[in-house]
Order: sequence, then C-alpha cells, then structure tokens
Amino acid sequence: MRINGSEVAAAGGATIAVMNPANGEQIVTIPRGTAEDIGKASDAAATAFPGWKAVRMRDRGRVLFAAAQEGRRQVADLARLLTTEQGKPLREATDEIRGFCNVLEYYASLSAQPLDQFIDLGAGSGAVVRQDPLGTVGAIIPWNMPALIMAWKTAPALLAGNAVILKPSSTAPLTVLRLAGILEKSGLPPGTLNVVTGTGGEAGEALLHDPGIAALSFTGSSATGEHVCEVASRAGVMVNLELGGSDPMVVMPDADIDAAVRGAVHGRFYNAGQVCSAVKRLFVHETIADEFQQKLAAAVREVRVGNGLDPEARMGPLNNPAGYDRIRELVSEVSTKEEGTVLTGGEAVGHLPENGLFFMPTIVTDVAPDSRLLSEEVFGPVLPVATFKDLDAAIRMANSTQYGLGASVWTHDTRVISRYYAEVHAGVVWVNRHVSVPPEIPFGGTGKSGSGRENGSLALLHYTKPKTLYYGP
Ligand code: NAD
Repeated sequence: MRINGSEVAAAGGATIAVMNPANGEQIVTIPRGTAEDIGKASDAAATAFPGWKAVRMRDRGRVLFAAAQEGRRQVADLARLLTTEQGKPLREATDEIRGFCNVLEYYASLSAQPLDQFIDLGAGSGAVVRQDPLGTVGAIIPWNMPALIMAWKTAPALLAGNAVILKPSSTAPLTVLRLAGILEKSGLPPGTLNVVTGTGGEAGEALLHDPGIAALSFTGSSATGEHVCEVASRAGVMVNLELGGSDPMVVMPDADIDAAVRGAVHGRFYNAGQVCSAVKRLFVHETIADEFQQKLAAAVREVRVGNGLDPEARMGPLNNPAGYDRIRELVSEVSTKEEGTVLTGGEAVGHLPENGLFFMPTIVTDVAPDSRLLSEEVFGPVLPVATFKDLDAAIRMANSTQYGLGASVWTHDTRVISRYYAEVHAGVVWVNRHVSVPPEIPFGGTGKSGSGRENGSLALLHYTKPKTLYYGP
C-alpha cells in the first residue's frame, strides 16, 4: 500500500495473495490493510490537505497532465500488469491505461477555468461564490476497470484540491498502486493520494467509518452501495454512488443489422462482460430476430478466448472465482429450469488452461421473462436475447428492472429515438452505439444504479462545496 508517499506494509503485517485469473498462479502478495492503516492514511491526508488546497488550480492540473504523459510512456508495461492481475486482453488493457491518461488530461484542461463565480447584484452589492475542496475524500473502487475508475475519482477530486484515500479491490490492486506512484513522481505531494489495500470488510469498512473523511465516492455492486449510502448518511458525509447495471439494447426493424451485431458483441463481451454498462439484455424486433440471432451467434463463435497476454485473444478469463461460479450457476439454471435456449457458449473446454477462469461467450435465446438473466445484473459473458412486437413493448421490457445505468437503441428513426430517450430509465442513452464513455460526457445512473455522475465538469463540482460571500453597498 502507499501512505504518505511511501510503499509500506500493513500495520498488522498481514498480506493477501493477488492471483492471475488466466492460470490460477499467485502474482504477488499485497498488504492486508486494517483500521490502523486507514487511520495512518487519514492522518497523512489531513496533514497534506491544506498545502494541496493552497496550490493554484492550474498547477494542480499540471501535475495531472505530467502523470498522464508518464502513463503514456509506460503504457506497454502498465497494460501487461493490468492484464496479468485482471485478465482482460492486452488490447483492452492498453485502451484502459490510455483511458486513465485521457481522463487526467481532460481534468488538467479544466484547470485553466476557475470554478469560482462573481455575481453582480447591482447598486454596489454582489456575491462571490467560491468552490472550496471538501477535505479528505474516501474513494472505493472495483476490479473490473481499476485504472479507469481510479482516474474518474482521483482526477476531479485532486484537481478540486482534495486529499484522497483510495481503496482498490483486493483482486486488482497492482496497476492502481503503480499509477499512484506515477502521480507522486509527477509532483503530487506525499499524503495527497494514499492507497490502502485490503478487503472490503476490513480496510473498506474502516474507510467508511473514518472520522477524517469528508466525502465518499463509491463504485461497486448495488448491494455494497446501499450499505455505503447508509453509513455515509448516518455520518453526514457526502456520497457519490456508481453501482451495478442491467443495460438494455433495443434493435428496431430499420437498424443496420451488421452494425448492431458488432455493437452487441463488443457491448456484451468486452472485458469478458464485466462492465457496469455492458449490454446485459438484448431486445430485437420480432421481424428481424431470426437473421439477427444467426449473425450474432456466428460472430460470437469467432471470439477467440484465451490468456489476455496472447495477442490473438479477444476475450480473457473472468477476474475472480466468485464471479466465475455465479456465471456458471446462472447458465446451468437456464437449462435445469428450461428458461431459454443456449444458442452458443457455456463452460470453457479444450485448449484453455485448467486453472484459468474461462467461460465461453454465451448467447441465450427465448429467455423466460422471469429468468434471473433478465432481472439480476449478470456480470460476465452471457447475453440473453428476447424479441418484441412494437416500441411500447420494447420500452416496457427495457424498464423492467430496478437498474437504470445505460440503455441503447439501434435505429435511424428520430421519432423512435426521442421517445426512447424520454421514456427509458437510464442515466445515459446511446443511439447506434453502446458502452462508450469519453471523459467529457457525464456518466452514471438512476434507481439501483446509483445517484452520482463521473466525468465531465459536473464531477468536479461533486468534490467541492460552495461558500458564498454576499456584500452590500
Ligand atoms: P463490490 O461491491 O463487491 O466491491 C467494490 C469495492 O467495494 C471493492 O473495493 C470492495 O473491496 C469494496 N467493499 C466491499 N464491501 C465493502 C464494505 N462493506 N465496506 C467498504 N467497502 C467494501 O463490487 P465488485 O464486485 O468489486 O464490482 C462489480 C460491481 O461494480 C458490479 O455491480 C458493477 O456493475 C459495478 N460497477 C459500476 C460502475 C459504475 O460506474 N456504475 C463501474 C464499474 C463497476
């Protein structure tokens, strides 16, 4: 872990093994942080905060920019490390490291525009509204996109002048630790960004309850998010929640079928389906369903599964045994309960390493409306497909879960687009694309998918509080 600018062991000396999901081998061990380590990180952050707050925003932006440049120089090494701990193919890991750099550069670019406002109220009176940093931000992130989500939280929080304690997932902490080191070498003062490794139950819980925390920013499952929200509201701490999703993709009869098939394959099987805003439910108009499903199955059979370090691999293993077991269980339930037809996919067989967490890209058609594939978040490479008769039915089906992260519609009909945009429950609506999240565009959900927004200038405001000076003539 990194506290106050140095790599340190856990106070209690305990460690956790980080495994390579492609072969089940241990990569290294990392410190298993406890409340004592969170306390040290909190002290370091409190000491660093006033100095960092006093740095001009433009100079804080310069640090982010320098770290992005260094990240680009080290992209090949960082991507290898990310693939080894997380499982994703090197090409996707490279994209993610570049994504980290893009986000840092985006926030660096905002540093030239001060957030403070002057309001002239006439007759000699007016107001100044200053956007002050909050203090220490506790950021908790998952394992599916650790580098990107680290950037989504730390870049705006640091640019706004806060100190940060980051708690990565115990199954993908290594790239995050390296990136924190790069930020420090690029000029971030010691203690401004601390990374405490460990489990959710120990280090995570301690961070939620640390009295030095002014705000919490959490990305992870909806179940953990509800708990984080409860703890934060009891403590009166500001909270930003980015949670699970079950995004619908609706394909209308006028859609470009080949483009939609490509979009579904990318949207569902990128990162082995372990993306919050992946295409998790596919609804196709009944008049094009046969052609669509045939083309989809053919495209999915072409997806080469293997160790992410193999340049030929298009899909890697799942990241952790719990996620793998859940996917196996959900797919076997489809067969035992006769809830659908497995068109292609299922458990991995043949050339793949026995101890790797490989699951083949799977398409399930004729899915029963009450199947868990349609009501729960499926965080892996399984795509349930159902058909619909008209737009009313498609929107009803799209809105049939409690999630509301992303949603896409594939059509060129502007009336359909405007109705879908107005009526679908989602924080982001894509047209003829899915799972694209550039740093300029606010990203987040509604309902069980959370309440906050990452990215864009809005996210910067999450990490500030306005303070007004109102004067008379
Ligand atoms: P998770 O909720 O199990 O864990 C997320 C993080 O919370 C980890 O660092 C974990 O150690 C920590 N944690 C767990 N229990 C905790 C506790 N009691 N107190 C404090 N911290 C605790 O989620 P996961 O399995 O790591 O991630 C997958 C989930 O994340 C999926 O549901 C996915 O959709 C969601 N996700 C959402 C977004 C988004 O932007 N909305 C992005 C990526 C992932």
